[in-house]
This record gives sequence, C-alpha cells and structure tokens, in this order.
Amino acid sequence: MSKVLIIGAGGVGRVVAHKCAQARDVIDAMTIASRTRSKCDAIAAEISSLPVKTAQVNADDVAQTTALIKAEQPQLVINVALPYQDLHIMDACLAAGVDYLDTANYEPPDTAHFEYSWQWAYQDRFREKNLMALLGSGFDPGVTNVYTALAAQDYLDEIQELDIIDANAGNHGQPFATNFNPEINIREVTAVCRHWEDGNWVETPPLSTKHSFDFPEGIGPMNIYRMFHEELESLVKHIPTIRKAQFWMTFSDNYLKHLEVLQNVGMTRIDPVRFQGQDIIPLQFLKALLPDPGSLGPLTTGRTCIGVIARGLKDGKPRQVYIYNICEHERAYKETNSQAISYTTGVPAATGAVMMLSGIWKKPGVWNMEQFAPTPFLERMKSLGLSTVVVEGEWPRL
Ligand code: NDP
Repeated sequence: MSKVLIIGAGGVGRVVAHKCAQARDVIDAMTIASRTRSKCDAIAAEISSLPVKTAQVNADDVAQTTALIKAEQPQLVINVALPYQDLHIMDACLAAGVDYLDTANYEPPDTAHFEYSWQWAYQDRFREKNLMALLGSGFDPGVTNVYTALAAQDYLDEIQELDIIDANAGNHGQPFATNFNPEINIREVTAVCRHWEDGNWVETPPLSTKHSFDFPEGIGPMNIYRMFHEELESLVKHIPTIRKAQFWMTFSDNYLKHLEVLQNVGMTRIDPVRFQGQDIIPLQFLKALLPDPGSLGPLTTGRTCIGVIARGLKDGKPRQVYIYNICEHERAYKETNSQAISYTTGVPAATGAVMMLSGIWKKPGVWNMEQFAPTPFLERMKSLGLSTVVVEGEWPRL
C-alpha cells in the first residue's frame, strides 16, 4: 500500500484527491499540500475513506518542497499545481528520492511557450536514481496519448494522420470564464498555432483555422479551432509514422469575442506594467477578476467530448478510428464537487498514479503516456469514472 503527496489544491487537485481515495487497493494515505493551506483543508474535509493530512508549501522553493517530501515520505508526488512548478517539483523529487507525475508540461513564467525539452532533459537524472517521472497524465495531454497508443496497438498497423479534438459542449452561464486556471488557459489559447506536417512544425496565427465538426451521441455540430497542444510534440516523436498531427478545440463565439477585446486592450499581456508605483502583470490581474474555475462546478451543465481520430493503414488498406470519452458536468460535480474539465484531468492523474504505484507502468526515467501499454490504464480509468468509446468509420479530413 502506498502514500501519495498531492501538490496543488485547485479544481484538478480536488478530483485527484477524491479519486485517489477511491483506489483503496493501492493507496491508503495522502497528504495534500499547496500554497494556500485552507484550500487543502477544504478538500480533506470532503474525504473520509482514508487518512488525509494537509500542509502549506511554496513549490517554487525546492528546499522547502524537498523537506516536505522527506517529512511525509510518500511513494509518489502528484503535481497538480501550475506548469511553472514542474521543474522545481522534479528537482525536489530527485533530492528526496521519490517518483513524480504531472498533467501539464513546463512553461517558463515570462514566456508563453511550452515544450517537453526542459523535462525530457531530466531523463538521465531520474534513470540514475532509479526513479520514474510520468509526464502529462491528464486528459489532453494524457488520455489522448493513451487513445493514440490504443489505435496503434489494436486498430492500425501504421498511423499516418492524427486529429485530437476537444469539445466542451457545456455551459456555465457566466459572461466570460475559463474552465481551468485562467492564466494558463489564456496563455495556451493565444499562443501561435503549430501543427505537424511532413516532418515539420507549421506555424499559423492563433485560432486562425476553423471547421465545423459533428460530435457524436447527440452533441451535434460545433465550431473547432486549430491550436498547438503539447501532446502533439511527444506523439510525433514516439510514433514517427505520423505524417500530419493537429489539435482542435471548441470555443463559443462569446468566449472568442471577449478574448479578442481583452487582447486588444492589453489585458492578456504577461510582461510587467508599472501601475501606481508597482509592477503588475495584466494577465495575472485579469485572473484575479475572473470567476475561480473551481466555483463553476454547481453552475455548469452539458457534456465534454474529447478524443482522437487516427487514420492510417491496416493490412495494407486505409482505415480510420475515432476513440473518445464523453463526460457530464453535472455528474462530475455530484461526485467530486468539480466540473467535468477538472474531472477529466483528475481521473487520469489518479489512474496514472495507480499504474505507477501498482508497478503496471514502472520503469526508471522520464516518460510520456503513449510509451506504456494502453489497455490496463483504460480499464482502471473506467472503474474510476471515465469510459472509452471506439468507433470505426469515415470522417471528413480537417
Ligand atoms: P488551479 O489554478 O485551480 O489550481 C492550482 C493550484 O496550485 C492552486 O491550489 C494553487 O494555489 C497551487 N499553486 C500555484 N502555485 C503554487 C506554488 N508555487 N506552490 C504551491 N502551490 C501552488 O488550477 P487547476 O486545478 O485548474 O489546474 C491544475 C493543473 O492541471 C495545471 O497545471 C493545469 O495546466 C493542468 N491541467 C491539465 C489538463 C490536462 O488535460 N492535461 C486540463 C486542465 C488543467 P493557490 O490556490 O494558492 O493559488
């Protein structure tokens, strides 16, 4: 039996705690630590099936985090703080000799650019210490990588094209809000778009390519916009037959209208602006004004649909497969007090933790999700609340 240390007590941290508490065959104790301890205490109060401790930590301080890990002695640190903390928490795990898992790749605070190179550079250090780091164990990245591995294992001899499509067909009723940390969300959405084509990254302006996609199970047509997402980088590296890989996300006209105005007036800037004698980062100030994503849970209705369409060859003939999950916001809230975006991230994080702690996914070094067997992960994820649908057919090329 194992103990986990969860760092970060936002919407995702809440779901991870609930779901780790349900994995009683593997996890029998947890500590939740974050910058604001009262948020950890509020989550701990919702869990009664196992002992939960809480702690205050600034995860940017490697010595402080190392001391916490040594004091708590977990078998695994689950990092669901912000991407800025990734390298600091990896350093602390190395110093304390404990395995590591996260859901988003490292991003330097002063540049809106994210890529795996900084974390892949830890490969030798983790391997030499016989420790494991599992990167991107959320839904996208995370389950989308596992779905791609499933397509390669069971449906296609060679994946040639990949479209990852993320729909939030839900409604929170707010004029403008983001479903996860507003600062990270807006940095991601406003970044230059990159997709993979014939061995190169092709850059296009943010959200400049749009299609209508007919989502399954009664969700129906919605506008999807192409953007860069981090799993594209690891997938084209680890599955080199992929000639074209794109990521698409739905946005409402209302969200895009607000975003455009906020960008035009400078509110999404991440450089310091001098205001009344102090430096202010406009995007951080905007975050303070916007609804806390954690508060959207009781307000959000509808469903999410996130999945991959993989196209390629099977027995020399063209074949296409669409692998997806549908998650209901209301059901997620009823179960964990969080809406489906936090839920679809937290369940795979807890599932990845179970895979590592039970030794099913276990090897020293730094790994992405598609580098492990997909089936045990998907079976365990189903028992923790997220099921998978596989459909073969034909979909229009995007
Ligand atoms: P929130 O902003 O709701 O929560 C982040 C938590 O981290 C807060 O409790 C915050 O503390 C804490 N934190 C921030 N900085 C520090 C620090 N220096 N030391 C300790 N704690 C800190 O974010 P979410 O829960 O929505 O998202 C969590 C992570 O999940 C993010 O990295 C996000 O990118 C990722 N994510 C991944 C997805 C996927 O599918 N792969 C999808 C959605 C999110 P405080 O409350 O004091 O600010």
